[in-house]
Amino acid sequence: MSEPCGRYAPTPSGRLHLGNARTALLAWLWARSLGGRFVVRVEDLDPGRSRAQHERDQLADLRWMGLDWDEGPDVGGPHGPYRQSERGEHYVAALARLRTFECTCTRKELREATFAPHGREPVYPGTCCEGVSCPERPRAVRWHTPAGVVTVDDAVLGHHEEDVAAEVGDFVLRRSDGAWAYQLAVVVDDGAMGITHVLRGADLWTSTARQVLLQRALGLPTPRYAHVPLVLGPDGNKLGKRHGAPELTRLREEGADPQRLVATLARSAGLLAPGIGRVEPRALVADFEVSRLPKEDSVLDLETLRSPA
Ligand code: GLU
Repeated sequence: MSEPCGRYAPTPSGRLHLGNARTALLAWLWARSLGGRFVVRVEDLDPGRSRAQHERDQLADLRWMGLDWDEGPDVGGPHGPYRQSERGEHYVAALARLRTFECTCTRKELREATFAPHGREPVYPGTCCEGVSCPERPRAVRWHTPAGVVTVDDAVLGHHEEDVAAEVGDFVLRRSDGAWAYQLAVVVDDGAMGITHVLRGADLWTSTARQVLLQRALGLPTPRYAHVPLVLGPDGNKLGKRHGAPELTRLREEGADPQRLVATLARSAGLLAPGIGRVEPRALVADFEVSRLPKEDSVLDLETLRSPA
């Protein structure tokens, strides 16, 4: 059994919000409670949306919360580089090992060619499988997704089965503008960095079967997964700016108390009794148990960020 290793993988396209902070805290707690390493990996795959300033702020925010990491873009480590924008050669090598084809379909064409239930991506209809339909257009690369049911066991959400070929189809590994797809990069990097425990937001749960299928095709182990439900505002909707939820950088710059923030986040995840107003992440390690995390979305009490609980 390899040494436990967790990670937090922020995308530097904006500031961290309280939901991100909670995910980072829980991912860190899981790794540390197992006596494992912790890695921060910057997922700056989209050159148009990623900003170095966001990366700097995000790392400063995480440190301000009291989190630390053994490997990351600012501290280095044996599995670097830790920015996805610098890891292209790993993705090229992985792509070469998979059965792929080029595709020139646009999103609009795919939507028109297929029936997709509301809110879901259409299943790829196979248009370019035997050769691209529009040779003059830039080409994306898709994976000939193998048939068969994938089973995923999640430490929080439980058991899930998915036939990726039937429910998603041949999905994109490299976009037509040359950017690497998240699905490929995350699998290659988790494998290369020896990540054994992945805790992340439940919005990524629907990607997991695709990632497990890629891990199998590339001969990589499947990490243990834990998908944590969302953080809601007092009105029951996904916590956001309209609830007055401050971004982390703002709290830090305003001189807020990071231990009060950590206590608020920990309480929302059932890790701290009401009435404890301040806590350091380190103090939560000993009692952390991933299977006890809430399976339902939880409400964050913004009041306690600034005033005693
Ligand atoms: N970079 C992704 C995000 O910021 C997280 C990916 C992952 O944890 O697998 O949402």
